[in-house]
Amino acid sequence: MAREDYPTANPFVPEERDLESMAEAARHCRGCPLWQGATHVVFGEGPEDAEIVLVGEQPGRREDETGRPFVGPAGQALDRALEEVGVDRNQIYITNAVKHFKSKRSNGTRQGVTPRVAEINACNPWLQAELEQIDPRIVVAMGTVAARSLAGRALSIGETREQWLHTQWGQELIVTFHPSASIRAMSNERREQIFEAIVYDLQRAKIGGAGEELRR
Ligand code: SF4
Repeated sequence: MAREDYPTANPFVPEERDLESMAEAARHCRGCPLWQGATHVVFGEGPEDAEIVLVGEQPGRREDETGRPFVGPAGQALDRALEEVGVDRNQIYITNAVKHFKSKRSNGTRQGVTPRVAEINACNPWLQAELEQIDPRIVVAMGTVAARSLAGRALSIGETREQWLHTQWGQELIVTFHPSASIRAMSNERREQIFEAIVYDLQRAKIGGAGEELRR
């Protein structure tokens, strides 16, 4: 599809920037074609004064059905990681880089498909507006789609995971794996490694620095 087919979500982001108004406005977003195949828009959830914002890729099937972020298997993995580091999910803001579920039919079910760069870019104004409204202490990009949207360029998780970066809008940023990677990796050992890496990175986000008190 040509790039001009993806104008941007910009015209749909309201002047009134409270999270509730934005979540309502996002239901009517036509900034790219992804709304057509989705059941619900899935906007971010969490308090407006959250210190930590977690950003995933896009809604999954369960999220698309319920209209809520991280309520499927990846959300359960994230909940376990948050519990390990003692972070209350209700105290953080959780959202996705892309707000509508991109999927394809396979064996009678809808399977998630990684959004294209043009779709990530089209949805970017929503993420920017959420971060401007919340002004968090730290943003955590979970997976390469979130990292691209937040940094404004492609980032390798392996190369950037333990660094302190900045979002394209200036907030402190750390990059980690998407929780789904901790349930999809081929071996038990790899799944465990990824889960522990996510726990470690969430601890960094909680403490605000890569101090020696962090366990590896
Ligand atoms: S994915 Fe984002 S830009 Fe595309 S229609 Fe949905 S909210 Fe709008």
